Amino acid sequence: MDRLMYNAGEMQRRRAACTTIIRLRSVMPDDNAPLYDEVCRHAQRTALLGSISELLEWDERTKMPPANAEHRAEQITLLAGMIHQRETDPRYGEQLAELAQGPLAADPQADVAVNVQHLRREYDRKIKLPRSLVEELARTAVLGQQSWQQARHDDDFASFRPLLEKTIELKRQQAEALGYTESPYDTLLDEFEPQERTATVAGVLASLRDQLVPLVGEIRQSGRSGDVSILQRNFPAAAQEALAREAAAAIGFDFDRGRLDVTTHPFCCGVGPNDCRITTRYDERFFNMAFFGVLHEAGHGIYDQGLSAEQWGLPLGQAASYGVHESQSRMWENQVARSRAFWEHFYGRAQEKFPAALTGVSLDDFYAAINDVRPSLIRVEADEATYNLHILIRFELEQAMLCGDLTVADLPGAWNEKYRNYLDVTPPTDREGCLQDVHWSSGAIGYFPTYTLGNLYAAQFFARADADLGGLDEQFARGEFQPLRDWLREKIHRQGQRFSGAELVQHVTGRPLSGEPLIEHLRAKLGPLYGISH
Ligand code: ZN
Repeated sequence: MDRLMYNAGEMQRRRAACTTIIRLRSVMPDDNAPLYDEVCRHAQRTALLGSISELLEWDERTKMPPANAEHRAEQITLLAGMIHQRETDPRYGEQLAELAQGPLAADPQADVAVNVQHLRREYDRKIKLPRSLVEELARTAVLGQQSWQQARHDDDFASFRPLLEKTIELKRQQAEALGYTESPYDTLLDEFEPQERTATVAGVLASLRDQLVPLVGEIRQSGRSGDVSILQRNFPAAAQEALAREAAAAIGFDFDRGRLDVTTHPFCCGVGPNDCRITTRYDERFFNMAFFGVLHEAGHGIYDQGLSAEQWGLPLGQAASYGVHESQSRMWENQVARSRAFWEHFYGRAQEKFPAALTGVSLDDFYAAINDVRPSLIRVEADEATYNLHILIRFELEQAMLCGDLTVADLPGAWNEKYRNYLDVTPPTDREGCLQDVHWSSGAIGYFPTYTLGNLYAAQFFARADADLGGLDEQFARGEFQPLRDWLREKIHRQGQRFSGAELVQHVTGRPLSGEPLIEHLRAKLGPLYGISH
């Protein structure tokens, strides 16, 4: 499930602006201070427009009548054009250049310098994109999502194909306009994971695959499996919502500053500093979907709610990257909510909510069921061990489409072949195959790898938090989640974009990004459950 995705998925306007424009003049007696104020005001008002677009997009995916798609596309396109005009205003560019040369930016670690550097990077990127392309991308994203939703519902890939072809062509034009040295994919990836390289991600995924495939093999050979039928009993939606809300609030999602709604494809979006919206969907015959979905989106929401309100709309008030964002959701979903300790605290509540389904089911059996590992068709329902193989497939396919090695017409066949090769399963329909994810329909190409980066960041951050805070499991078993949340707030949320994802990992954990903590986490959890070495 996803952080968000729309249009070009721009971090810049995601965070939107706060109406409280920061006044730094009093604390910075410098000639450049008024200029910095002006630049901040400009950036924050641009982000304010972004937050209006965000609200329209939330509405589009939760409440809007489908017949309104074209009108909504025009509304969002108009805003995208206005935002782009402000982002590429030549006077704003000159002001940023002047600030970057001036004394305020002399210390690269200072808050002002961090903001200026990031705003300038974003300006330099945006100035390369013609407004007509930005508007066409925005329009196609809205129409593409509507087309995808219908095609997925009807299991009719052919009806979605023209819009996907158009999207891929526009993303090619975007990559060409932005420029690249090695691969057009680099520049699209950079939009979601600034400063990350395709080659680095490819290396990380390949090394993970080499460790995950044998691990999944050992699990299958163990002959053991969780009794997942426990999770497929009757779980009334109202009780699911009540338990999910209780758990989300317990881990720290602030419902006074956020809300939970129903959608087809869950996401989280930050509309304003006190308005973070998460969404989910309910399946009354499957416990995992809504519960772990809500905990996941709440993890995203806790990050948004932990960002600096004073810096809202500026780089220091924005998430570091999509990968770091995903690390927060995956950590609360997996390291926390799929831990035995978490359920030592919550299982009694679950049994109260679902007496028909869970009375007589032991905690051990429930815990084994929610951690069952088996190759499957649907990414968002995949277990922790096979999840990254789903990402690898999408990463390879979207690169091939972008580079012209794979036509959109051949996508369903290529998708199914990769599922056979990597996971030994074959989708019986495109709905359970290449039509399952919203990303490509919304133009989010280069987004998928951030899921795996998020899993890796999550495991590495969590190992460090566990060492720093001492015995997180004991705290979870007592229902205490605030120490971890506070640790994340200080080390990660409050840093905004001070560091890139890779830098943040190094800064927080003292080590560069590595696959080891994730593999250690999986072996430590799955070893005892499956009787394999760990
Ligand atoms: Zn997510």
